[in-house]
Amino acid sequence: MIKVKHLAFILLFCFPLVVCKKASQQQAGFSQSESEFVMGTICAITLFAPDSADFARVFNEAFKRLHEIENLMSATVSGAGGVSGADINRVNHYAGQYALRVSAETIAVVERALYYAELSDGAFDPTVGPLVKLWGIGTETPKLPSQDEIAQALSLVNWRDVSIEPEPGALFLKRPGMSLDLGAIAKGYAADEVVRIIAKAGIPSAIIDLGGNIFAYGLKNPSEPAAPWRIGVQNPLDIRGAYLGILELQNKSVVTSGVYERYADIDGIHYHHILSTRDGYPVRNGLLSVTIIASSSIESDALSTMVFALGYEHGRALVETMDGVEALFVFEDKTIRATSGAQAVFTLSDAGYHVLSP
Ligand code: ADP
Ligand code: MG
Repeated sequence: MIKVKHLAFILLFCFPLVVCKKASQQQAGFSQSESEFVMGTICAITLFAPDSADFARVFNEAFKRLHEIENLMSATVSGAGGVSGADINRVNHYAGQYALRVSAETIAVVERALYYAELSDGAFDPTVGPLVKLWGIGTETPKLPSQDEIAQALSLVNWRDVSIEPEPGALFLKRPGMSLDLGAIAKGYAADEVVRIIAKAGIPSAIIDLGGNIFAYGLKNPSEPAAPWRIGVQNPLDIRGAYLGILELQNKSVVTSGVYERYADIDGIHYHHILSTRDGYPVRNGLLSVTIIASSSIESDALSTMVFALGYEHGRALVETMDGVEALFVFEDKTIRATSGAQAVFTLSDAGYHVLSP
C-alpha cells in the first residue's frame, strides 16, 4: 500500500491560518491573512499593522513574487526550450550540453546552495535531482528503486559539477542526466523575499508560513515589545498540527525538516524525502526532525535539511560555529536536544517527549 503526504505545517496556534478576505480590526490595529497554493505547498501570509490601507497591494506583490520564484526555481515548472523563466528546468534540460543564461537571483540561490554543499561535504547537495525523481516521494507515484537505479542516479549527484559563469550569468551542469533540485532552499529564499516586500511597505509585523517554512517578522505586538511570537514545533509522530512544544521568538525564521513532511509508506516501510547522497536512501540516523532558528529564512531552510542529512553530532557541531543560529533536534526515541539558545526559548508541552541537556 502506498500512502503519500505532501504538506508541511508548523502550527501557529496564536494566529490560526485562515483565509479572510477582509482585514479585521484588533486592539493594536488590523490583521489579515491570505493563502495560496504555490511552490508545491500552501503559502499563508498574515499582516499586522496600525492601518490596513496597504494590505491588498502587499498581498498582490508578495504572491506575485512567490509565483515568479516558483517559475524560476522549480525543477518541475515546464519551460524547456527557451521560455523565459523556468531557469532550473531549462538548465536541467540542457545538462551536459549548454550553459544556460539565467536570472541573477537563480544564480544567487544556487551559489548559496553550493556553499552549504561544500560546508557539509556534499551531505546537502542541490544536484540531488536524479535521486529525488527516482524515488518520487511526495508525488502520486513514489517507488522503491532497485540498487542499480540508485547507483545510476547517485553517479549523477555531485555539486562540484555545477559551473557558474558569472558573465553574463549562466549555469551549466557538466554531465548529461544531472539535475538541480532547490527544494531544500528555495522556499527559504522566497520567505525572505516576502519579508523584504512587507518591510518596504512599512508593515511592522507579519507571519509568513510557506508550508511550515516560517518567518515571524517584527514584533508580535508593537505596543508590548517584550511579547514574543509563539510558534509550535510539529510532533513528528502525530497528526499535522499537533505540536510537541512552543518556541517563543521575535523577528526570526523557523524551519523544520523532518521524516513526516513528505513521505511514502511502501510495503509497510516509511520512506521520507531527505536523501542520503552517500547511499541514495532516505537518511536514517535516529533523527525525526531538525528545527533551525535563524535571522534569514534561506539560512534556516538550507540548514534544517543540511543538519538533518549530517546527523546530530556533526550537524550540531557545525551549527554551534554559526552566529545567531540555533537548533532543536527530535529523535526517534522521543528525546529532544537543543542548542542553548534554542533551549532557552523552548517549552515542551507533550509529556511523551523528554528534553535532554545540554
Ligand atoms: P520541505 O521540502 O518540506 O521544505 P526540506 O527543506 O527539508 O523540506 O527539503 C527537502 C527537499 O530537498 C526534498 O524534497 C528534495 O527536493 C531536496 N533534497 C532531498 N535530499 C537532499 C539533500 N541531501 N540535499 C539537498 N536537497 C535535498
Ligand atoms: Mg530545507
